[in-house]
Amino acid sequence: MNIQRKFDLSYMELSVPQAFPLGRYLAHQRIVLETVKRVLERGWYVLGTETESFEREFAQYLGVAKAIGVGNGTDALELCLRGCGVGPGDKVVTVSHTAVATVAAILRIGAVPWLVDVEPGSLCMDPHALEQVLEQDRCAGSGIRAIVPVHLYGRMADMPAIMELAAQYGDVPVIEDCAQATGASWQGRKAGSWGKAAAFSFYPTKNLAAFGDAGMAVTRCDSIAESIHCMRQYGWRQRYISESFGVNSRLDEIHAAVLRVMLPHLDEDNQRRSSLADYYHAAILPSKGRDIRPERQPYPQHVYHQYVVQVEDAGLLQRHLLQFGVSTVPHYPLPVHRMPAFLHAFPGHDQLPVTDTLTGRLLSLPMFPDLMPKQATHVGKLICDWLDSNP
Ligand SMILES: *Cc1c(COP(=O)(O)O)cnc(C)c1O
Repeated sequence: MNIQRKFDLSYMELSVPQAFPLGRYLAHQRIVLETVKRVLERGWYVLGTETESFEREFAQYLGVAKAIGVGNGTDALELCLRGCGVGPGDKVVTVSHTAVATVAAILRIGAVPWLVDVEPGSLCMDPHALEQVLEQDRCAGSGIRAIVPVHLYGRMADMPAIMELAAQYGDVPVIEDCAQATGASWQGRKAGSWGKAAAFSFYPTKNLAAFGDAGMAVTRCDSIAESIHCMRQYGWRQRYISESFGVNSRLDEIHAAVLRVMLPHLDEDNQRRSSLADYYHAAILPSKGRDIRPERQPYPQHVYHQYVVQVEDAGLLQRHLLQFGVSTVPHYPLPVHRMPAFLHAFPGHDQLPVTDTLTGRLLSLPMFPDLMPKQATHVGKLICDWLDSNP
C-alpha cells in the first residue's frame, strides 16, 4: 500500500523530509492501535508475554539462539560487552566513523575504545587496520577484549575477514553493532548472527522501528544470554534478589507488541529502501568524472538505513537542497575522536586518515520506506544540476 496515496501527504511533494517515522504508523494504523489497546487492556506493561514472543520471533528471524529485549540500542551494546566479559580498563576495538552511541557504550563500562580506520569504499571497519592493532596489541601483551564492527548505513562490515582475524588472534569476542542494519545479510547470514553477540536498536528512524526507544541484545551463546538476561533487571535471577551486577533496561510490552506487528514487514520495507537506492543510483549520474554515490557491491546485501553521498562540501549541497524543500542530514559531521567530549579520551588517535578525510563530506539523502521513487528521482536530478553548475 502506498501511504502517500492513501493519506493526504501532498505536502511531501513540496517538502521531502530526510526521515519519516510517522509513515510506519500511518501504514499500519489500524493494527497498531488494536495492538496497543490489547496490551493496555491486558494490564501487564513491562517484560511479559509480548516481550518474550518478540524475543523468540526476532531470534528466529536472525537465526540466532537467544534475544534479550532491552531499553535501547546503546544499552544492548553495553550489556553485550559486559556479557562477553569486558570490564574496566579492557581495550575494545571499534571505529570512530560511527554513531557516538557505539563509543559511549564502551566508555560506560570503563573500557577503553581503540579506534581504527574505515575502508574508503564500505565506510566500515578496515580489516587491515584491525589486523595492525591486533598485532600491535599481541606484542604489547594482549589487552584487547572485544572487537565491535559497526554495520554502518545498512551495509555490513567485512565480517568474513573480521571473524577470521578475531579467531587468529586468540578468539577475541566480536560484538556486532547492528543498530543500522536490521535485516542485512552476507552470504545468506544475517547481521547479528556472525559475532559472539550483537546489539540492535529500534529507535523510530531505524529499519525496524518502535514508536519510542527499544533495543535488543542477541547471542548464540546460552551463558551470555543468561548473563544479559539478569543484567537487564538489577542482576536478578530470582525476583528481588540481585546475584550480579545489573541495570534497569527493559523492553516495554507496548513496544514489543508493536515490533511484533512490524517484524513481518521488515524485509519488504528493506526492499523498498533498496529499490529507492536504485532510483538514486540511476538519477545521480557521475559528473565531470566525479561519482558521489555510495559504493555498490553484490555482497553484502545492503538495507540502506541511509543513502549517503560524498561531496567536497556537504554543507553547500545541504543548503542547496533545502531551497527546494529537501531535507538531508550529515552522518556524521564529526568522527567520534574529534568530538569535544572525547578529545582527551583518545590521545594518539590522529592516525585515522580515511575517517578524517570524510569529515564534512557526507550527506544522507531522504530515505524511508514511504519515500516515493519519483521523489528520489527528483532529488537525484536536483543534485545532478548542482554538480553540473558547481565546478
Ligand atoms: C542508533 C545507533 C545506536 C544506538 O541506538 P539507540 O537505540 O539510539 O541507543 C548505536 N549504534 C549505531 C551505529 C546507531 O546508529
